[in-house]
Amino acid sequence: MDFKTGRHFLQIPGPTNVPDRILRAMAKPTIDHRGPEFSRMTREVFEGLKQVVRTTSPVVIYPSSGTGAWEAALVNTLSPGDRVLMVETGHFATLWRGVAVHNGLDVDFVPTDWRRGVDPAIVEAKLSEDRERKIKAVAIVHNETSTGVTSRVAEVRKAIDRASHPALFMVDTISSLASIDYRHDEWGVDVTVGCSQKGLMLPPGLGLNAISAKALTAAKTARLPKSYWDWEPMLSTNKAGFFPYTPPTNLLYGLRESLKMLQEEGLENVFARHDRHGEATRRAVRGWGLELNCLQPEGCSSSLTAVLMPAGHDADAFRKVVLERFNMSLGNGLGKVQGKLFRIGHLGDFNDLMLAGTLSGVEMGLGLAGVPYTKGGVIAALEYLGQK
Ligand SMILES: *Cc1c(COP(=O)(O)O)cnc(C)c1O
Repeated sequence: MDFKTGRHFLQIPGPTNVPDRILRAMAKPTIDHRGPEFSRMTREVFEGLKQVVRTTSPVVIYPSSGTGAWEAALVNTLSPGDRVLMVETGHFATLWRGVAVHNGLDVDFVPTDWRRGVDPAIVEAKLSEDRERKIKAVAIVHNETSTGVTSRVAEVRKAIDRASHPALFMVDTISSLASIDYRHDEWGVDVTVGCSQKGLMLPPGLGLNAISAKALTAAKTARLPKSYWDWEPMLSTNKAGFFPYTPPTNLLYGLRESLKMLQEEGLENVFARHDRHGEATRRAVRGWGLELNCLQPEGCSSSLTAVLMPAGHDADAFRKVVLERFNMSLGNGLGKVQGKLFRIGHLGDFNDLMLAGTLSGVEMGLGLAGVPYTKGGVIAALEYLGQK
């Protein structure tokens, strides 16, 4: 029987569960995007977004996926042939590199085993070696959604400073923004890349860039072609609360509601909640006797957990069982880890009992799919979650 009762469990690491409050906010009639009501709303949204990114610099919003925001960061600040230092933390870093290469940039791509974050020492060494200052930007992924590893952005900033290198610093915060502590200004980031469908709890469709004064200066002389992604018309029309083209009005209603929710909960509480759910999930994984993909205890992500499949077992076959039997979607292995790992998303609009349900579905699914595991992962997580 195909009929499904109850709610679908959308436990992929984005798009995340969209709360009813946001869905209702988006269900309002679209208004004139050149009228006063729209202008008031967008100015409120820009202010709220700056608080989440922790910046006093401008933030621009595109009707786009995160990939668009990646491209915007590069084409606004760089020129053909510019060298960019990137680190292959996983699939998303690899995709961002592709965007850079397709735009004619020369990427120095530092390999890793997809099980750890960016090593600040390598960044420092690469920049110190670059005596001619050919590297124009360092671009990293804060939370690598394909591997479940978070990089230490503040440490990478310090590494750039130790090398006294003038490169711009760009950070993809797509699966960390509004889930894991992030500070654009304090960490000296020049361009922050984000989008709507992860910690911001919105449907897909909004991309964003937060832009430092140094990045704005670089934009004045950057020569990569751009039109749709050009910051300049965005920034000049945004000042009055407008866009240079038709904006995604209903997603902006949703964003306004999302920012309200984050403010009501308090960002510190949002981060603590994600940390706690990450820890509970890792206890469950250890309880099952399975291996975490993340090899760095201090780097394990608070927004998702990537779990390695025992040899000879296919992660996608397991995910299929979980979907068909329990109506729950888990994240797949992306790129070269396809079939080798699955990912549990625990970010966005989420609570203890949703996590308990998620982990129960995983534990039952392991049994049904014939994957060797030890019973008791769920109990270990519940004991942690139930502590005073
Ligand atoms: C989801 C994600 C992206 C890709 O965003 P799209 O909206 O699919 O273009 C990029 N980077 C990270 C870290 C992500 O998690």
